[in-house]
Amino acid sequence: MPTTSYAIAIGSNRRGRHGAPEREVAAAIRALGGVVAASGIVASAPLGPSIRRFANAAVLIQTRETPPELLARLKRIERDFGRRRGQRWGARVIDLDIVLWSAGSWAEDDLIVPHPAFRTRRFVLDPLLGIAAAWRDPLTNSTVRQLAHRAQAVDRRPRRP
Ligand code: AMP
Repeated sequence: MPTTSYAIAIGSNRRGRHGAPEREVAAAIRALGGVVAASGIVASAPLGPSIRRFANAAVLIQTRETPPELLARLKRIERDFGRRRGQRWGARVIDLDIVLWSAGSWAEDDLIVPHPAFRTRRFVLDPLLGIAAAWRDPLTNSTVRQLAHRAQAVDRRPRRP
């Protein structure tokens, strides 16, 4: 495969061996390799004692991997991060999704690119806006900027009682 670019969404809502969710996200960015652009890490503070803190980021990577090869590597990183000391198969502390691919789209049973849910998820679109605003979604032909602004507008819409 020639080198292509991918936009990857990274999320964590659980402490792991690197520490709090922000630390897990930062470590995942280092583990990915080939990173040519990275958003800041957006952390949402816990609102109550029982509500988990979330951390999210987006990165652009360049690689010669096909989408299935990249997915297999992302799953290995997720598994590696999910393993905590003394607990061989612990909870997964990191979530890595393939959001966009510079070569277009891919669809098979367990891998759909662009990621089917990314168009309405602010925790994906907001970080992506800073690093890939002009990237066009091949399915809707909308740019990341348009999708992000649409999702932000939906959130601002007044709700009926
Ligand atoms: P989740 O734990 O909700 O992130 O779902 C992970 C599963 O979604 C993986 O096992 C993949 O097989 C599947 N999947 C389908 N499309 C994608 C994608 N674009 N990026 C990552 N995982 C995907």
